[in-house]
Amino acid sequence: MRLNEFALFGAKPAFERPLPVGQLYFPSWERYENAFRGIFERQYYTNQGPLTELLEAELAGFLGVRHAICVTNATIGLMMTADAMGLKGKVILPAFTFIASAQALTWAGLEPVFCDVDIESHHIDINRIDDLIDGKVSAIMGVNLWGGACDISLLSELATVKGLPLYFDSAHAFGCEYEGIHLGNFGFAEIFSFHATKILSATEGGCICTNDDTLAARLRNIRSSYGAGEPVDVVRTANGRMSEAQAAIALMSLEDFPINQKKNEILYRRYEQELNAIPGLYLIAPAGVSFSNYQYVVCRVDENEYGLSRDLLIDLLKSENILVRRYFYPGLHRSVPYVYKFPEYQGCMPNTDKLSASCIQFPIGALVSEENVVRICNLLMHAHQISTEIRSRHA
Ligand SMILES: *Cc1c(COP(=O)(O)O)cnc(C)c1O
Repeated sequence: MRLNEFALFGAKPAFERPLPVGQLYFPSWERYENAFRGIFERQYYTNQGPLTELLEAELAGFLGVRHAICVTNATIGLMMTADAMGLKGKVILPAFTFIASAQALTWAGLEPVFCDVDIESHHIDINRIDDLIDGKVSAIMGVNLWGGACDISLLSELATVKGLPLYFDSAHAFGCEYEGIHLGNFGFAEIFSFHATKILSATEGGCICTNDDTLAARLRNIRSSYGAGEPVDVVRTANGRMSEAQAAIALMSLEDFPINQKKNEILYRRYEQELNAIPGLYLIAPAGVSFSNYQYVVCRVDENEYGLSRDLLIDLLKSENILVRRYFYPGLHRSVPYVYKFPEYQGCMPNTDKLSASCIQFPIGALVSEENVVRICNLLMHAHQISTEIRSRHA
């Protein structure tokens, strides 16, 4: 390919329709209509209706967990969980995660304490946690990223030794297994996101999983008076309900999970095969899990070997309608409001800084085909081959 064959330099975009990074689940009209007919017949939209009840039972069965508590979205779920656990003061979490992980703590009146991550696995660096623990720290929040997981065994051991409760933001990890056990069963609680871009979609939605009956009772009471079960004392409540419309979509998406997982795995393997031939692009394998949902394709760009910076590559691909992302840029410690509130973190998160400067996420999910992956990778190869020219023209 020559320079003027790239959309960045005036050619037509390689893809007519934008290729997204997220899952974007759309069942057929027939199934959609079928699922919504009952809602219309019952004339019942929300307040822990039959579809939400069914979804909770099916999720608990699928994951093998005692309680699956569906909520409006994962961020609300994270806020409710912090409250239900009675956390006070500070909570340790990785600096390399989606802003909502920390914002949920701020909403719950807690101070996030940022921990740097492991450069290989992208997950919280267990060796750095000890130094962050002081008398005010009341919990550790692990974040399970990219269809992978933290080193849950070591993290649990550390939390036990330190006498701190552990819970997880598992927004990326629905359906993944750790040592053969479904995520959703670890720590005090795990929170999944069913946002439209995640592998299990309720369009918006989430679910708190726990095997702790007391915590579950508190969570149900915080969520709302509907479906609360036995009334228990809570400090405050929130409207965190999931609607019947959300549950209807999620039930179909759960039924199709094995197909969507398999498809993602095939796309991931194809990326793996194609990217292997391109210098400077390193695919990140899902960390630590015995089974992955392959929700994301994450790649590290080595600017010197590849020839283009990560950000120039993003501009190049976006102009081709390949909607790549640079998730978690610039890291929690450099994001508003924390960059102003906690200036002491600058310079202390070298791995988070490196990863947020070099990672890129490629399209995967229901709207992406294997043929699309091959075309994306061909473009990547051609861009590498004329990278010097691209750089000089773009300067
Ligand atoms: C998507 C996501 C969230 C938030 O989920 P919502 O359902 O959109 O509130 C939280 N944490 C991580 C790591 C995420 O990727």
